[in-house]
Amino acid sequence: MAKEELECSFCGRKKPETNLLIAGLDAHICDRCIEQAHGIVLEESKQSDNAELSSELMLRKPLQIKDFLDEYIIGQEYTKKVMSVAVYNHYKRLLQPPSDDDIEIQKSNIIMVGQTGTGKTLMAKTVARMLNVPLAIVDATVLTEAGYVGEDVESILTRLLQAADYSLEKAEKGIVFIDEIDKIARKSDNPSITRDVSGEGVQQALLKLLEGTTVNVPPKGGRKHPDQKFIEVNTENILFIAGGAFDGIETKISKRLNLAAIGYKAAHEGEQLDTGNLLQYIIPKDLKDFGLIPEIIGRLPVLTYMDPLDANTLRAILTEPKNAIIKQYKKLFAMDDIEFSITDGALDFIVNKAIEYRLGARGLRSLCEEILTDAMFELPSGDEKKLNVTKAYAESKLEKTKLKKLKAVS
Ligand code: ADP
Repeated sequence: MAKEELECSFCGRKKPETNLLIAGLDAHICDRCIEQAHGIVLEESKQSDNAELSSELMLRKPLQIKDFLDEYIIGQEYTKKVMSVAVYNHYKRLLQPPSDDDIEIQKSNIIMVGQTGTGKTLMAKTVARMLNVPLAIVDATVLTEAGYVGEDVESILTRLLQAADYSLEKAEKGIVFIDEIDKIARKSDNPSITRDVSGEGVQQALLKLLEGTTVNVPPKGGRKHPDQKFIEVNTENILFIAGGAFDGIETKISKRLNLAAIGYKAAHEGEQLDTGNLLQYIIPKDLKDFGLIPEIIGRLPVLTYMDPLDANTLRAILTEPKNAIIKQYKKLFAMDDIEFSITDGALDFIVNKAIEYRLGARGLRSLCEEILTDAMFELPSGDEKKLNVTKAYAESKLEKTKLKKLKAVS
């Protein structure tokens, strides 16, 4: 066959009429037919995805969701429980058949308040992993109102589309984790005094996404590609999880608690406040006092808090979760046939250093790296097939490193 006679075996278009003609063994297919076929495949898999989702949810009741979270996250019992219910209800809402009783189940978007490094991101990641839905993690600090330097809130959905490999179907059922939501709090108590570009405007823009709306999303993000086609994303079924440290909110909580205590002293007689973590008493009003607008708070109806990590929790984080740091090192060494072990003394030492340097859970990893780098460098090419890390070993390795460097991590 002469070259110009090539044609698509599906639609019969001649090669010059196509943008691309791909050759198979003894057939050809043009770009248009590929796109059409791709559409059919998507449609088919959409149906099977829906079936998968419903069967998954039939299996996972809140108790089982919590069991799954337990495998990856240490402690944080309250948040795990609240999260399990919220996620369960969210996906029940997705599966509700159209009904005529006018009862519309609203979204259970979540807000988690807690110090950095206590597992807020991990919580969102684990839920997404369990449900097998795409997850976009975005930092609220980079968001600005449209027209200002920074990213428009739509960029959140660009990320989600990317996480979903551009499957609109998957993205529309995905999860968005908005980190550092406290950083877009209104700075001044009186909103009319100054226009607050970074805070309230962004909150207003976010509101629409949280509520559920259709947004034109630039698939490649940003304003650098002005010619790109927009993708219409409906946020109705996207679960939003927000997290923030809300530094200083404890003061507001304790103030409120003290005031209440005067009025209700009799009723509260004998009740002890746990001042170790005042966050457990948080109510939506505290978020409002911190500078979140009431509408945003209303759209994040599930409010929960994280416990600070104490030594026992940090110790457990090192060894217990399904992909605990120590288990990861064991696996890494095993790949070189090296048997890795670590003593209790060494583990306690690492935990104490993490606390001493206020590194939290995030620091456990950097401490382990500092301690094990020499071994990971030398052992794979040597004859030694065993490594037992003791407290003395850990101490000597850490002494060599510049601890100031570690401090900078926090
Ligand atoms: P946050 O989002 O609250 O700042 P992250 O979820 O990013 O905190 O936690 C930082 C790291 O610390 C994670 O990679 C995780 O491995 C570990 N971590 C923190 N809290 C926990 C926890 N409760 N259980 C297990 N690992 C945790």
